[in-house]
Amino acid sequence: MVKPIPYGRQNISEADIQSVVDVLRSDFLTQGPVVPAFEQAVVKHCGATHGVAVNSATSALHIACLALGLGPGDWLWTTPITFVASANCGLYCGAQVDFIDIDARTYNLCPLALEAKLVEADKQGRLPKVLVAVHLCGQPCDMAAIHVLSQKYGFKIIEDASHAIGGKYKNEFIGNCRYSDITVFSFHPVKIITTAEGGMAVTNDPNLAHSMNLLRSHGITRDETHMTHPADGPWYYQQITLGFNYRMTELQAALGISQMQRLDAFVTQRHALAKRYDELLSDLPLVTPWQHPDSYSGLHLYVIRVRLDQTKQTHRQIFEGLREQGIGVNVHYIPVHTQPYYAQMGFTMGDYPQAELYYAQAISLPMFQDLTHAQQDHVVAALRKELTA
Ligand SMILES: *Cc1c(COP(=O)(O)O)cnc(C)c1O
Repeated sequence: MVKPIPYGRQNISEADIQSVVDVLRSDFLTQGPVVPAFEQAVVKHCGATHGVAVNSATSALHIACLALGLGPGDWLWTTPITFVASANCGLYCGAQVDFIDIDARTYNLCPLALEAKLVEADKQGRLPKVLVAVHLCGQPCDMAAIHVLSQKYGFKIIEDASHAIGGKYKNEFIGNCRYSDITVFSFHPVKIITTAEGGMAVTNDPNLAHSMNLLRSHGITRDETHMTHPADGPWYYQQITLGFNYRMTELQAALGISQMQRLDAFVTQRHALAKRYDELLSDLPLVTPWQHPDSYSGLHLYVIRVRLDQTKQTHRQIFEGLREQGIGVNVHYIPVHTQPYYAQMGFTMGDYPQAELYYAQAISLPMFQDLTHAQQDHVVAALRKELTA
């Protein structure tokens, strides 16, 4: 049997491999010069001023929430259509989590639903402290609208741009934090660029950057200006808060720097593939991804919605049929509020109808830099077979 076509896959060049090997031969495998160089490469590209590289986007979300002061008694709001990490970061901090339903066209959190929920929460004195805006599939949320609401209701904004590095909002790269406090990227191999595991939080606020730097490495500082009293000697460090070991290694950062050089080319390739899917799928009973005119997606994912009223097969049958034909399709995502861990907090099916409807129809097709036209044709033929069966 031929190897299935995955839904996402890394692109590794000889230059990437050499950059990692070079670090292995160098003096530092961790805590050397390469991590700061990677942080500079990312912030220079996206237009923020500070970058804090960590071992995953999950860690980045955690320290971003802590830096923003999220804690017990606070609320974090996000979308139900995301990876669980976008919500779990609130629970790590002892805060409570709530969700906002999605927009039927972009599948991102709906600013109108957000506003309605804020009005209600304001009356009950339960306004959120932090909103995690997830740029699903790489398409940015309506950040200008969300930012206006944050000014009015006084909450902080984290952009979960795990899908979106290299994409743009209103012609500027995602990650410039013009409408947010912190933006988080993921470098997991299925995402747009990779460091194997890895993530980064970027910001324009030096105080937030300082906090996140401390939190990533045990809450320890060696900078005397941040100590409670002068150093005892050259060996001295102080732990001034409770942090973690969330550090990225030099090997990962070297891979990241090398990958960054191809970021724009990767996103361009993804757009070419998406356009080709759009055309090849246009006569089938499904909805192709709608792109807001303000957005240039990073296109981590290409999600179709099956028009189940126009096919004989169920969502599950179509999915299983595609898998049987060697297509590594996936579903992004199972609504977070329906996960057992969240259901025990009182969430239930029916809470977010748009998110649930989306979940009942969505299938992620293979989308990655090295997807060939022949593979893409195979995906389309397999889908045609399932939808017209
Ligand atoms: C992948 C992903 C994360 C977590 O990223 P890791 O680097 O694997 O921790 C968080 N949020 C979203 C939306 C993601 O897709």
